[in-house]
Amino acid sequence: MSLSITHLGSGSRGNATLLESDGAKVLIDQGFSGRELEKRLARIDLHPSDIDAMLISHHHGDHGGGAGIVHRRWGVPIHCNLRTAGELGLDLVNDVELFESLQMLEFADDLSILPVPVPHGGADNVGFIASSRGERAAVVTDLGEWTDELLSHLRGCKHISIESNHDVLRLERGPYSSSLKNRIRGPGGHLSNDQTGLLLAEVVSDKTESIVLCHLSSENNKPHLAESTVLYHIDEVFEGDIAISLQNGPEFTHWLGQAEKELNALI
Ligand SMILES: [Zn+2]
Ligand SMILES: [Zn+2]
Repeated sequence: MSLSITHLGSGSRGNATLLESDGAKVLIDQGFSGRELEKRLARIDLHPSDIDAMLISHHHGDHGGGAGIVHRRWGVPIHCNLRTAGELGLDLVNDVELFESLQMLEFADDLSILPVPVPHGGADNVGFIASSRGERAAVVTDLGEWTDELLSHLRGCKHISIESNHDVLRLERGPYSSSLKNRIRGPGGHLSNDQTGLLLAEVVSDKTESIVLCHLSSENNKPHLAESTVLYHIDEVFEGDIAISLQNGPEFTHWLGQAEKELNALI
C-alpha cells in the first residue's frame, strides 16, 4: 500500500530513479551502463530483470543513453515519446512503446504515470507525475524554465524530486565558455538553485512530505548551497524532509503511504 522513490544516482554522468508500488517497478531514466545499473540495483537487492518498464524523459545520454542496452540484455520495455525514440536510434516497432505528453500510463493496477512536457533545449523533454493509491510523486529534471501546466501538476504531490542544477555565481565565475554558460542558464538549459526555490515556493505546502534536489552540477554547485538556497524560498511553509541525490547512489528511499507508517511501527 505504498509508493517508494529511490534515486540510483543523479547528475550529468547518469540519472535513474526507481519508482516502486506494490505491483510495479519502473525506472525513470536510465543513463548508466548496463553493468552500472546492475551494480546499483544489487545494493537494494534487485536485478535489472525485476524492472517492469523504463520511462525515458528525453534523449540526452545521461537520461536515455543506457536504455537500449537494458532492453536488449534483460528485455525491459522502453517507454518514451517519438522524438526521444528517434534521437536514441530505437527501432519504433521492436524497441519502444511510444507515449504522448499528458497520456496516462498504467503499470499493474496501482501505479499510473503522467508525462508532462517541460522546456529543455534541443529535446522533447518530459517530467513524470506518478500516482499510486491516491498519493502523488513527481520526478522532474532538465528544464530551463517552467510552465503553468507543470506547476498545476506539481501542486499536491507529496514527494517532489527536482533538479537544482547550479549556483548562479559559481556558474558565472566558473571555467565554462560563455556560450555554454549562456546555454545552461537560458530557457532551454537547467534550473539554478534560486529558480528551483522559486518554483517550489509556487507548489509546496505543509502537506509536501519530501523533496529531493537532484542533477546538481559537480562544477557549478555544492549540496549545502542548493539546500540552503531552496530552503530560503520555502522555509515558511515546508515542514517535510529535504535531501540531495548525487551521482553515486542509491543513498536513500522515500516512501509515501502505508509502508512508511508500517516501517516506523517496526522501529
Ligand atoms: Zn541531464
Ligand atoms: Zn538534458
